Amino acid sequence: MSDTPSLVRRTPWPASASRPVVTPLQPSVVYASPDPDTLDAQYAGTNPGFTYAREGHPNAQVLAEKIDMLEGAEGGLITGSGMAAVTAALMGVLKAGDHVLGGDQLYGRSLRLMGQDLNRFGIATSLADSTDARAFAAAIRPETKMILLEVVSNPTLRVADIEGIAAVAREKGVLLAIDNTFTTPRGFRPFEHGADIVIHSVTKILSGHSDATLGYTATKDPALRKAIYDFAVTTGMTPSPFDCWLAERGLYSFELRYDRAEANAAALADHLATLPGVKKVLYPTRSDHPDQNRAVSLLGERGGHMVSFVIEGDRAQANALTRGAPDLAFAPTLGDIGTTLSHPASSSHRALAPEARAALGITEGFFRVSVGIEDIGLLKSEFSKAVAASQAV
Ligand SMILES: *Cc1c(COP(=O)(O)O)cnc(C)c1O
Repeated sequence: MSDTPSLVRRTPWPASASRPVVTPLQPSVVYASPDPDTLDAQYAGTNPGFTYAREGHPNAQVLAEKIDMLEGAEGGLITGSGMAAVTAALMGVLKAGDHVLGGDQLYGRSLRLMGQDLNRFGIATSLADSTDARAFAAAIRPETKMILLEVVSNPTLRVADIEGIAAVAREKGVLLAIDNTFTTPRGFRPFEHGADIVIHSVTKILSGHSDATLGYTATKDPALRKAIYDFAVTTGMTPSPFDCWLAERGLYSFELRYDRAEANAAALADHLATLPGVKKVLYPTRSDHPDQNRAVSLLGERGGHMVSFVIEGDRAQANALTRGAPDLAFAPTLGDIGTTLSHPASSSHRALAPEARAALGITEGFFRVSVGIEDIGLLKSEFSKAVAASQAV
């Protein structure tokens, strides 16, 4: 009986003199070590090797190393979502009594983390206008430990005064964390501008196909890296190997996709500005953008793949616009290969009072476009039709 082959004994991987060209997908949760000495050495970090997937796995490591390359980082961490990366970077480092200062137009969930969740743990938070370094200097408190910024704000595409705020952070000894999701390492490399921590929602254009939810965070300081890693592992922010595998596949074409989407965005912005019924176009490198000078000095000629615009009218005109463009996905995301449209007044900014929205310039006619890699002729004609449909009601 004891010699009967058992179905549950895993078959060894078939021997092959050749190797796969594509990164293997490794869903294994656990890794078997030969003996306790080896396992001990693995945990001590003196012997390389994986033990348990929550602590790390090959598909996450391969992906992290690729994004590290783009950001000029090392030892970056992949998390199960962009928000997990934001949370790990903040909660892995801050403690009760600390204060964190954020830009006033951060991603919605980052604002919620700052405004509600951190406070429950005794971490004070406040916001300041990210286009104004003096406002940041004035808002620093003795207990301020970290500044959290995005380079280009969502959805109004204001450009933060990174150089000014980085100088304030340096002078005051405050950590600077930059969420580089919008700008991407193709447009901006935060570590070259004084950032201590870089964060990404890999879900967006890095992965690029709207089929994987992931985040990334990196820091140059080994003690911070360990604090962030331990917090993420303890709280279970583990990414799925399959998502990492998909994101790695997406990442191979990231630079091509980004360049194409950015060229499309610049052309679409200029096209939208010619359409009757379009009141305003926001694109960082256009001459009518309030932060054009700063955009050009920070991002060069690269304005990114996001465009916002405002049409004449109200909710009825907004409804008619999305209905007039059935092939442009009306979906609150960004960074997909296909162009997506979002309407902040009914989605990301719906919780704000109308006056607060108005102060940001977000009216019912405000749309944000994440420009994809389609043929620009097609995009121009779809937007012409959609805007015309909106103005016909
Ligand atoms: C989407 C996004 C996030 C959150 O990422 P998820 O992967 O959706 O959790 C954080 N910051 C910015 C700027 C984003 O656009």
